[in-house]
Amino acid sequence: MKVYSKSSKLDNVCYDIRGPVMDEADRMIAAGEKILKLNIGNPAPFAFCAPEDIIRNMTENLCNAEGYSDSKGIEEARLAIKSYCEYKNIQGVELNDIYTGNGVSELIAMVMQGLLNNGDEVLVPAPDYPLWTASVTLAGGKAVHYICDEKADWYPDIEDMRRKITDKTKAIVIINPNNPTGAVYPKEILEQIAQLARENELILFSDEIYDRLLMDGVKHTSIASIAPDVFTVTFNGLSKSHMVAGFRCGWMVLSGDKSRVGGYIEGLNMLSSMRLCSNVPSQYIIKTALKDFDKTDKLLLPGGRIYEQREFIYNAINSIDGLSAVKPKAAFYIFPKIDAEKFNIKDDEKFVLDLLKEKKILLVHGGGFHWEKPDHFRIVYLPELKVLKKAAEEMSDFLSSYKQQ
Ligand code: PLP
Repeated sequence: MKVYSKSSKLDNVCYDIRGPVMDEADRMIAAGEKILKLNIGNPAPFAFCAPEDIIRNMTENLCNAEGYSDSKGIEEARLAIKSYCEYKNIQGVELNDIYTGNGVSELIAMVMQGLLNNGDEVLVPAPDYPLWTASVTLAGGKAVHYICDEKADWYPDIEDMRRKITDKTKAIVIINPNNPTGAVYPKEILEQIAQLARENELILFSDEIYDRLLMDGVKHTSIASIAPDVFTVTFNGLSKSHMVAGFRCGWMVLSGDKSRVGGYIEGLNMLSSMRLCSNVPSQYIIKTALKDFDKTDKLLLPGGRIYEQREFIYNAINSIDGLSAVKPKAAFYIFPKIDAEKFNIKDDEKFVLDLLKEKKILLVHGGGFHWEKPDHFRIVYLPELKVLKKAAEEMSDFLSSYKQQ
């Protein structure tokens, strides 16, 4: 039996935490160089703190959280998630339909593992949060990427989705609000996606981890709320909205018509039991975290850090010759377009690597999000304004003479 192999199941999958850019960043850090990391959506290193009541809540409950919980989570947490579903108009959710997870990440892997047989296809957005593609691939499936259209505020291109549905397609993934584009999808778009799922008997997976990080008065609609008949799995968590990415606190909720997915749900229950349970101390903060769900965080309003940083980076990018960007409406990412012809960019990963070596700024190339053309990259705009200003100046300086060799 051959155990060692040079290739891995993930060889053809992009993942932004691996690859030559990260290898170079690690080398530079080991050599004592200071780099500015604009590559990962982790609020804590940028002086964002978790709300005090959350920390108190977890600390006070540590003694209650020593043992395994029910594999889907403690009742108190699931009751709070149920109320959140009611607030989001997701109908008919019972406690049994709710699974807590070690972050949304664990649950993304779980739903694909339980669903896919070799060769099954899943429609995944391009650009995507790359864990989705990786999880489909690891489960033996094929991620088929549908285009989100920059010219249409980065909304999914419904016709492209429709064209890519085959008899092997099992599900559609949407990321709304979106990482990396910051787009929030309007109801009309969601209705068309739901209709595609309905017509083709597909499962909907909706990643809504940024649904409490909205700006400009935009409202978020859960696709499950407008498609109560379509079997939908909705994902959410506290990593971003409560700045506790390290606590690994997420959940998923099943809704819609379950009559044809009984076997799949049994599989999910089995997978949920196999990992015993999610991090129990984190489950204790869910009730507190979800108590003020209709209150907009001050950080997202004019004068607040995320809002002002978004305004700055959006204007700065659009004022650099050869760059342009759609204004993000949610989360803390922007996905600028770079004029590949002007800078002779044939390889976007090399562009990001060149910037890292010369200016010590770490970004992720568009290909890291399964964007095919070498003409985009993502900036995480979590650092404070003065840091972002310096980064924008350095990028402008770098691009004033850049021609890819
Ligand atoms: N989904 C999206 C769209 C994300 O951007 C992220 C993290 O960046 C995750 C899921 C993973 O979140 P968690 O920390 O809950 O695992």
